[in-house]
Amino acid sequence: MINYKDLGLVNTREMFKKAVDGGYSIPAFNFNNMEQLQAIVMAAAETKSPVILQVSKGARQYANQTLLRYMAEGAVEYAKELGWENPQIVLHLDHGDSFETCKSCIDMGFSSVMIDGSHLPYDENVALTKKVVEYAHQFDVTVEGELGVLAGVEDEVSAEESHYTKPEEVVDFVTKTGCDSLAISIGTSHGAFKFTPEQCTLDPQTGRLVPPPLAFDVLKAIEEQLPGFPIVLHGSSSVPQDEVDTINKYGGALKAAVGIPEEQLREASKSAVCKINIDSDSRLAMTAAVREVFAQKPAEFDPRKYLGPARDNMKKLYIHKIVNVLGSNNKA
Ligand SMILES: [Zn+2]
Repeated sequence: MINYKDLGLVNTREMFKKAVDGGYSIPAFNFNNMEQLQAIVMAAAETKSPVILQVSKGARQYANQTLLRYMAEGAVEYAKELGWENPQIVLHLDHGDSFETCKSCIDMGFSSVMIDGSHLPYDENVALTKKVVEYAHQFDVTVEGELGVLAGVEDEVSAEESHYTKPEEVVDFVTKTGCDSLAISIGTSHGAFKFTPEQCTLDPQTGRLVPPPLAFDVLKAIEEQLPGFPIVLHGSSSVPQDEVDTINKYGGALKAAVGIPEEQLREASKSAVCKINIDSDSRLAMTAAVREVFAQKPAEFDPRKYLGPARDNMKKLYIHKIVNVLGSNNKA
């Protein structure tokens, strides 16, 4: 049993409270490899932003759970080396699919876990989430539950269509489970292809697809039910068009990739939404930079010469999100 506090990590309780009160959101960035983690830590340290390092099931399979845990421990020390005296870094399990997975992460030093029972019948979701909360809280590990179903594909999590969270269920769910935060579905979606062209309208000036707006009425109804309770948005990449254009320019084939407009995420950050998950955007930033190097310098074969620019591009993206979208800079 490893306690996350011994690794210098923190749970989400304090930072979520400050974020809800302060009208901003904490970035939750997924990581699978060293360059991504370096970019996240550099961006957070430079902007003094609390940050959540997210590990998905796919990441655990790809990079190994034990290695990822030691990388997060290293991230705390690296942040200090970068001059961030008191790093506010959470190591969080994204989309935990069973009690056993959550327990194994908690035992290994994660400071926060998500148990995603959103695909289960309501009562089973309650029972599973409650079981995880009871285990996690013994070690002061915070737990995110989910109600409602997001559309889209993210690693092993996928759904054909979304089902908005029912505001009439949230109080019962939070009371019965004791969870510390709640992921909701209000129209965000996993992946880089969040909406079909049929779901979008066409901006006649730019020729770009404009996605349907988030269901702010549902968010408002949830906030009225649970005043001040930390709300989480998954699937909140914006799919920056310049990165998509770069990818396509240098041989990629990302057609009709559409994300959530940043203005809407900025607006959501001012509400009880206090954690915003961003994964696809960093994948796009990484891929765009690598493709550009490969296209322009075909003789290059030193991985540092393409992963380095990829890291720089991700760092730029993370800083942009922190400062211009979530507003979490200078909060740690
Ligand atoms: Zn998610």
